[in-house]
Amino acid sequence: MSTAHLTIDLDAIAANWRALDRASASGVQTAAVIKADAYGLGAKRVAQALARAGARRFFVAAAEEGAVVRQALGPGPQINILSGHMAGDTDMIGDLDLTPMLNSLDQVTRHLEALPGHAFGVQLNTGMNRLGMDEMEWEAVAPYVLDAGPELLMSHLACADDPDHPLNEHQLARFHAMTDGSGVPRSFAATGGILLGPRYHFDLTRPGVGLYGGRPYEAALPVTTLSLPIIQTREVAAGEPVGYSCAWVAERPSVIATLAAGYADGLMRTLSNAAILWDGSTPCPLVGRVSMDLITADISHLTEIPRYLDILGPHQGVDDLADSAGTIGYEILTHLGARYSRRYVEGGA
Ligand SMILES: *Cc1c(COP(=O)(O)O)cnc(C)c1O
Repeated sequence: MSTAHLTIDLDAIAANWRALDRASASGVQTAAVIKADAYGLGAKRVAQALARAGARRFFVAAAEEGAVVRQALGPGPQINILSGHMAGDTDMIGDLDLTPMLNSLDQVTRHLEALPGHAFGVQLNTGMNRLGMDEMEWEAVAPYVLDAGPELLMSHLACADDPDHPLNEHQLARFHAMTDGSGVPRSFAATGGILLGPRYHFDLTRPGVGLYGGRPYEAALPVTTLSLPIIQTREVAAGEPVGYSCAWVAERPSVIATLAAGYADGLMRTLSNAAILWDGSTPCPLVGRVSMDLITADISHLTEIPRYLDILGPHQGVDDLADSAGTIGYEILTHLGARYSRRYVEGGA
């Protein structure tokens, strides 16, 4: 096959979920965050694999994503919508039994008027200043909202990937002040929060990136392999350039491989002259600019021309590639291209 292959190890995702479930304090439920198409890896297949591993609660960003997950899982598992109850989403939330995390007084009013008695949670702002009700707003409406029976009170940490950041303790204190004594189950920790320890776990943890093999969960099993086919090879003489803008010039006679993937497939231009590709365990530097559909690598040192080079795999995870690109693993994952032929590994197969 001529296209690039993306192999997604669903067993590794399930194993990462189980490991994060064990890392969550005893009695704490572990949900799974599968927003943005499960961080680019395919919400349907990932949700089904995690449900088989025992996950009963899922978080997505938007109601439309929730609809995909409900269709994949059928009735039963709880699907929480982080953007809450937005205008126009009422039918989807009602019909598909989605649970919005209400972020504002507007959303509370909309939800309780449009779908009285329908499940909901509340997101509180403890210092990230992105989504959720502020302390003053919450104080004013808490008695009324708590009376309507929320399933969950949640908040999100801004700096959990930095254990020494003072905002962590500050947000924790605010979350306690806003929710202690409410009697409602609470959720505070994503992947980074789980690693901060049990004081951050409350009743439900919500890992995302750790499931997919990303930092800050260093113990994660790798999930993705991305193999790019070599379309053509050529010899270039010392002094000859390769690719747009002559951004790389051969210092010695070299063998250059041209591979079928580029920035339209999520390989950012910042990987130009920076990333490494792999022939098994032999590194081959990406040379020159990343083009829309093509990249070029120096394979002068290989004794045989392989059919593929890997840009994600056992020797280079999403964070390693992110470091080369000057970004984070989350962005590498969610940019994985639509043109890749995707293969899911499951059941030890
Ligand atoms: C994305 C997100 C998560 C998951 O975060 P990770 O760092 O990927 O574990 C959890 N909660 C909220 C509110 C989020 O937006």
